Amino acid sequence: LDEPLFADLAGDAEVSFEFFPPKSEKMAETLWQSVETLAPLGPRFVSVTYGAGGSTRERTHQTVARIQRETPLNAAAHLTCVEASRDEIDAVAEEYWAAGIRHIVALRGDPPEQGQKFKAHPDGYANAAELTAGLKKLHPFEISVAAYPECHPDSVDVAADLDNLKRKFDAGATRAITQFFFSPEAFFKFRDAAAAAGIDEEIVPGILPVSNVAQTRKFAGICGAEIPAWMDRLFEGLDDHPDARKLVAATLAAEMCRKLYAGGVRHFHFYTLNRAELSFAICHLLGLRANGAARKQAA
Ligand code: FAD
Repeated sequence: LDEPLFADLAGDAEVSFEFFPPKSEKMAETLWQSVETLAPLGPRFVSVTYGAGGSTRERTHQTVARIQRETPLNAAAHLTCVEASRDEIDAVAEEYWAAGIRHIVALRGDPPEQGQKFKAHPDGYANAAELTAGLKKLHPFEISVAAYPECHPDSVDVAADLDNLKRKFDAGATRAITQFFFSPEAFFKFRDAAAAAGIDEEIVPGILPVSNVAQTRKFAGICGAEIPAWMDRLFEGLDDHPDARKLVAATLAAEMCRKLYAGGVRHFHFYTLNRAELSFAICHLLGLRANGAARKQAA
């Protein structure tokens, strides 16, 4: 690839940011500071996750509704099928519509107990494709869905995973956001395979700036992402050097974004973990500048 230097990037990249609903006052403060820091970059949207088994139902709703109400940002709510009937899920979606939320990240979700197989609720949506179709029946929501460059662990193979992704688009999704990954090549291969399977909708890479390898490895085990061995080596000996760790984390993620940009990617979705600093620095390297004018779609 003919890769541009950071200094040459045109600033034409677009971004979105993902947050999780805060559990305490202190965490809420960190979240709102992060939203304030990142908002001036004018993200396409910011999204708020939904805890396993609907455990954060209220907090997700409060957080999404507050972002929508009090900031110039477009807020998207994650919603899963876990342990809820269709009626219950539809009721949550109706609340979002009433609060002015027009964008849902529609997911199947994971079983509440780690290591178990997913079992649909007897009256529930069986998977994200069914949920997408159900939401579209309620209102003309914009819908994002999940995609897995390194294959979802429940999928028999890559072709079946792509079939599943296609079903989600056929059901009405407008974009897919990927699970995090650390190999740009894996993303490009997946994007090519998706195109060959007849998928021409947008596939947005999910970027996780890693500063804690052990924690990321634990999470990656559940969701089918690879942590390359070289990553341990890069963070070796940095346990007591938090500032150096952050610099390494930002460098790694920015380098990956630069490679993705060189391969034509123009929308990056950041898993912020509610902390703005790393994502802000990487966006800056990608050429984005705070212009104070976040875009907001007409509701
Ligand atoms: P689906 O697309 O429904 O399917 C998962 C897998 O099951 C697929 O790979 C597919 O091959 C297989 N499958 C599905 N239906 C069928 C079928 N009919 N026949 C055969 N195989 C089938 N989780 C949360 O709990 N809360 C969140 O907020 C959250 N946000 C996320 C955001 C992003 C961007 C991503 C990538 C993931 C997120 N997750 C979240 C994790 C997600 O819920 C899990 O990865 C879950 O295991 C799968 O969800 P899905 O929507 O991809 O499932």
